[in-house]
Amino acid sequence: MTTESTSPTENDKASDQPIVTCGFAEAWVGKCKNAKPCEEHADMKCVSCGEPATKTCDSTGQFVCGAPLCDECEHSIYPDGTNGGIGFNAQSCPEITKSHVKATEQKFKPWYTREN
Ligand SMILES: [Zn+2]
Ligand SMILES: [Zn+2]
Ligand SMILES: [Zn+2]
Repeated sequence: MTTESTSPTENDKASDQPIVTCGFAEAWVGKCKNAKPCEEHADMKCVSCGEPATKTCDSTGQFVCGAPLCDECEHSIYPDGTNGGIGFNAQSCPEITKSHVKATEQKFKPWYTREN
């Protein structure tokens, strides 16, 4: 008398599921490969609007900005079309919360999309 169990084990189930990774896009590094929930990024909030952050700002001057941002926000573009010169003395101690906006609320166009 044979009793064959047909119910899959927990392990089999787990291996069929693709691992959901954090996917947080770290500026100049790439996407985070930690499994969700990621300790490092789960609690990160967008500095601009407070939504869960999905990336860090990749705007660069002398340094990488690195502020946490959501999908909709990006580094503010300054009247001269630049990102305000991160790390340069031109703008001393920029207030990071004011230097990021929703992409739809940008007031100025970046210099590289301008036509003379
Ligand atoms: Zn992560
Ligand atoms: Zn945001
Ligand atoms: Zn930034």
